[in-house]
Amino acid sequence: MNSDTQSLAEAAEHLLKDRLENAQDVCVTSSFQAEDVVLLHLVRAILPRVPVIFLDTGYHFPETLAYRDRMTAAWNLHLINLFPEQTVAEQETQFGILHQTAPDRCCGLRKVGPLFRALADFRLWVTGLRRQQSKSRANLQIEEPFTLPDGTSLTKLNPLADWSTRDVWHYAEYHDIPLLPLYDRGYTSIGCAPCTSLPLDPDDPRSGRWSGRKLECGIHLQPS
Ligand code: SF4
Repeated sequence: MNSDTQSLAEAAEHLLKDRLENAQDVCVTSSFQAEDVVLLHLVRAILPRVPVIFLDTGYHFPETLAYRDRMTAAWNLHLINLFPEQTVAEQETQFGILHQTAPDRCCGLRKVGPLFRALADFRLWVTGLRRQQSKSRANLQIEEPFTLPDGTSLTKLNPLADWSTRDVWHYAEYHDIPLLPLYDRGYTSIGCAPCTSLPLDPDDPRSGRWSGRKLECGIHLQPS
């Protein structure tokens, strides 16, 4: 691991140790992308059984689900699969293919609603968000307040906010952490299969999400 990544890793370890050691009601959200798995590697050294929330939308790549299950078994994770109120079949029967016609609504039903309801049980939410991921994350802070629609206040901790993609890869390689095999096919940001393509702009890792129609699913946007 080079010295820059080493310094960032030590800073993240220090922050997590300080904030998690005596904390109650902590959770981590994970899509099992590279930064989320690096984050889990750091967090589980302090809280091995921290709840790890995965948004099981029903639209994920089979490779993502297989990798999630492999890492969960290998690291004995306390995985919480969050399901939407409707199955994919029920939603498509009632509303049609929302990820084509109204992706914000689809994300609302399958990601944002389930997550915000679940987060009401926690006070500290740890994420693998990074500023470099997208222009929509350029002002990300390492620690931020977050208020759920029901008024519940949480602290959101983003220990990797300063990390580059290269830092994430260096850390994973140094610690022998296997990554989601879809990266080997050229994907640089991986979510639900219908809304994930190879990047349209090589300099923008999230440019393959939603075919450029939107940048965020909504779980990281402060509800108004
Ligand atoms: Fe629906 Fe696409 Fe959002 Fe997944 S990412 S919840 S498929 S719109």
